[in-house]
Amino acid sequence: MRKEQNKSAKILKPRPFNVKKIREDFPILKQTINGKPLVYLDNAATSQKPQFVIDAMNHYYMEENSNIHRGVHYLSELATQSYEAARVKIQKHINAKHLEEVIFTRGTTEAINLVAHSFGRFQVKEGDEIIISAMEHHSNIVPWQLLRDEKGIVLRIIPINDRGELFIDKYEKMLNERTKIVSIVHVSNVLGTINPIKQMIEIAHKNGVPVLIDGAQGVPHMKIDVQDLDCDFYAFSGHKMYGPTGVGVYINQIRFDDAIHHEHNLLNYAQETLSSIKGLRIIGTAAQKSSVLSFVLKNIHPHDIGPILDDDGIALRTGHHCAQPVMKCFEVPATARASFAMYNIKEEVDALVKGIHRVIKVFS
Ligand code: PMP
Repeated sequence: MRKEQNKSAKILKPRPFNVKKIREDFPILKQTINGKPLVYLDNAATSQKPQFVIDAMNHYYMEENSNIHRGVHYLSELATQSYEAARVKIQKHINAKHLEEVIFTRGTTEAINLVAHSFGRFQVKEGDEIIISAMEHHSNIVPWQLLRDEKGIVLRIIPINDRGELFIDKYEKMLNERTKIVSIVHVSNVLGTINPIKQMIEIAHKNGVPVLIDGAQGVPHMKIDVQDLDCDFYAFSGHKMYGPTGVGVYINQIRFDDAIHHEHNLLNYAQETLSSIKGLRIIGTAAQKSSVLSFVLKNIHPHDIGPILDDDGIALRTGHHCAQPVMKCFEVPATARASFAMYNIKEEVDALVKGIHRVIKVFS
């Protein structure tokens, strides 16, 4: 893979977004780690939780906790009402047509497994094909591999170019009468690439093929309208979007457009500043990107980057990010990954840049 930095990214005009106020809602961000202010850049793994989510959880356990959908007593009714109210909020958030379309699971992994081993299992017979891409998280690979081994089907993989974008023309040619499901990531958790899923769904549907979207990194960073996308399944995780592990969309309390705008500018600022560091290679330079910045440093293993940055209070992820095929494509063993949320600020990017310079110095 060739090194190629993203030159097309544009800084959007600033819009009022009171990130300082947003940060105040997240108590954990006030912490210091090793005597330094916490710089939390591991949001693709899980986001931090605002005070009102923590309060809502406490309130639930202190005042409402009971078995939902079962008991006929007061608390059980109350717990059921809260649980179902969350379903309505999620329906509105993603513009699902029917409330019944919102199915709670523990997260994206469980959701994809559920589809693969229920709907998927009945869709396929020996010799059929399922299409995924080379930038999938293991959550969107393993369930299909299990089905492949069980049913004797073929997994076809859409390749990616050196910027980390899917070859849509090759995808289109892959579809045939044996194709039974397309299962694609919306936003890559390693490359940050935003895939043209609306177009891809349209192509699949023209061939009569249903589509599952792994939206784990999509929903937290962009407006999702499942009716407009016309997807058949859209899987995502509440814990990556400021909610508790399990259920939760509380995200409606801020102007989401402004948050997206803020994250976009922050990502571009980070890409610009990091790409000026000698010996640093950004992995994933798609024209359409969101909130994820993976990089490697010349002659330094990514696993050595994390602990040194941790000394500076910087939390980012190093490893293969459960997406080993992507590592193979870019011929790297692992990457360091900074991933942003609406509460991150430029000063944290500056701290990251300073930290990276320290890493380089340690190894020089
Ligand atoms: N898909 C993608 C693209 C992800 O980034 C992740 C989490 N890193 C998952 C699936 C799995 O999500 P969960 O652990 O919430 O099931």
